[in-house]
This record gives sequence, structure tokens and C-alpha cells, in this order.
Amino acid sequence: MRILITGGAGFLGSHLADRLIADSHDVICMDNLFTGTKRNIAHLVDNPRFEFIRHDVIDSFKVEVDQIYNLACPASPVHYQHNAIKTIKTSVMGAINCLGLAKRVNARVFQASTSEVYGDPDIHPQPESYWGSVNPIGMRSCYDEGKRCAETLFFDYHRQNGVDIRVVRIFNTYGPRMSPEDGRVVSNFIVQALKGEDITVYGDGSQTRSFCYFSDLIEGFVSLMEQESIVGPVNIGNPGEFTMLELAEKVVALTGTRSKIVHHELPSDDPKQRRPDISLAKKALGWEPTVPLEEGLKTTIAYFKEYLGG
Ligand code: NAD
Ligand code: UDP
Repeated sequence: MRILITGGAGFLGSHLADRLIADSHDVICMDNLFTGTKRNIAHLVDNPRFEFIRHDVIDSFKVEVDQIYNLACPASPVHYQHNAIKTIKTSVMGAINCLGLAKRVNARVFQASTSEVYGDPDIHPQPESYWGSVNPIGMRSCYDEGKRCAETLFFDYHRQNGVDIRVVRIFNTYGPRMSPEDGRVVSNFIVQALKGEDITVYGDGSQTRSFCYFSDLIEGFVSLMEQESIVGPVNIGNPGEFTMLELAEKVVALTGTRSKIVHHELPSDDPKQRRPDISLAKKALGWEPTVPLEEGLKTTIAYFKEYLGG
């Protein structure tokens, strides 16, 4: 098949490109390189199955493809808050452009949604049936509400125009090719530890997240895209739940750093707890994660060590 990945030069998009090319598909990677880099796809540029197009998903596009994976959107709070209006335009207009293209060329279209649609959840763990608790006017809203609106668009195009959709809700995912500057917790802690800088835990560090290794996530993407029984939304994530203090302590132990753990102010609307209920993914896709946090952290640490030149 010929497959378009928007956001294909980012952390997840570039791993997805690797996977689809390994499965003998042709991949068109579209990216405006806002948070993605040519470095993430450098090993693919000479591959005849791979093509890079520098383009913004906000502007319409035409390509003949069989499938579309829509991943274009900054994912870290630092990056998506950098230009909040652009972030919401990317989610909403990017979704409209992908859905319009899918409708025209009769392609199956995948949306990379997020656990952020649950906001600061008051149901734990979060099943897909939970509608969420989201502040519509806060610092995180450009991302959360943009992704919620994109889900609405996906389901409206599906109901109204019969577009063949798949929607995944991704819980915090980490691994090699995350940007060392993007401010997400796993990359921050590892880079700080490797540089011997203070490890910045926001608030008292009791807030929780569930961390999925990228290879497990990509397997979940492809499983959802390749089956006919459900369109989603389906949670894909690792149900192992850790406090940020526990994560910091693990990174300290695994890197052997002498960095100190320090506390900074908690950002506004920071969700207190997050863990996916993955019953649906298990039942409908036969999917569950396989990489434990310590194992994934070790390979991620090795990646950043090489990246930072040590
Ligand atoms: P990333 O920042 O590495 O990748 C996003 C990619 O989209 C980058 O290459 C960026 O340059 C590109 N992009 C941004 N705006 C664009 C635009 N207007 N036009 C074209 N390209 C644009 O982040 P990631 O972790 O790889 O996330 C990929 C997708 O998965 C995003 O949609 C994100 O919201 C979603 N997601 C990721 C996580 C996670 O934990 N990694 C969790 C939930 C959802
Ligand atoms: N966090 C932290 N120190 C950092 C970066 C993040 O303690 O240097 C916390 C952040 O406040 C949040 C959690 O780690 O509670 C996950 O943050 P991230 O930005 O990775 O993702 P999200 O909040 O979108 O889940």
C-alpha cells in the first residue's frame, strides 16, 4: 500500500515509517519540521519506498494513498503551548484536511488522539466510555480541546460520509528519537541525569503517569489499522502506573548520576493521575504492552547518551 504519515519526522511518526517500510509499504512522510527533525528520518531518505514532503497540515494537500496516519501535532506541553493558536489549528484543520483527502481517495484514516481527552480525570483508570474532565480555557486546552474536536470530526465524517476511520487514544509514550528539548518528563529526567543537572520534579511528584514504550505503541497502531471489527476510540498505553518521584528515582538509579532531585512549581491543570484501561485493546485487537518501564528506560538512556555525545 501507499501510506501517508503526517508528522512523519517526529518521534512516533518516524518509528511508524520504519515499521510500515519494513512491512513493504511505500511511505509518504509529511511534516513541517516544527518539532520533528530530518535526523529522525535520515536513515530513510535513500530508501526507494520513502518520500519526504515538507508541508503544513493546516494547508490542504492532494496525494493518492491507500491509508493516512494523522500524527501531525506538537505533543509536549512546552511545544504545544509555544503557539497555542497554531496548535489548535493543527489539530482541527489537520483533521479536516486528512478526512477530506480520505473521503476523496477512499483511504482509511487514522487519528493519533490522546489520553488528554480525559483531562484531569475523576474516574481511574480511564476507559474509553469516560467523557473526561477538561478545562476548556486553560493552558492545556489548545491541545486537549483541539484533539477532542478532531475526534468529533473523525466520527462525524464517519457517520455522515462513511469515511473509514480508526481512532487511538495514546497514553504517555517514550523512547529513542524523543527530542531532548521537548520538555516531556522522560526526556527531561534522562537528559538532566546524563548532564549531571538537577532533576526537576514538578510539584511534590505524587502525580502519576503510565509510560508505554514506543515499539508497543506502534504495534497497537498497526493492529487497529489492519482490522475491521472496531473503529475506536481505543486506549493504547501501558497500565503500569508510577509517580513522577518514582520515575525520577528510577532514572537516577539506572544512570548512576549524582544529580539531585529538586522540586519546581506544578504547571496549571496538570492531571493528578492517569492510567489506561486497556480491556478494549486486549479484547478487540489482542494487544497488550510487553516492554517494562526499566527495560525501555535503559534503551532510551543509551539513545540519549549517544545523542549527547558521551
Ligand atoms: P513529536 O512532536 O515528536 O511529533 C509531532 C510531529 O508533527 C513533528 O514531526 C512535528 O514537526 C509535526 N508537526 C507539528 N505540527 C505540524 C503541522 N502543522 N504540519 C505538519 N507537521 C506538523 O510528537 P510525538 O510524540 O511523535 O507525537 C505524535 C502524535 O501522537 C501527535 O499527534 C501527538 O499528539 C500524539 N500523542 C503522542 C503521545 C506521546 O506520549 N508521545 C501521547 C498522546 C498523543
Ligand atoms: N514533569 C516533571 N518534571 C519535568 C517535566 C514534567 O515533574 O521536568 C511532570 C509534569 O508536571 C506531569 C508529568 O511529569 O505531571 C508528565 O509530564 P509530560 O509533560 O511528560 O506529559 P503530560 O503532562 O502531557 O502527561
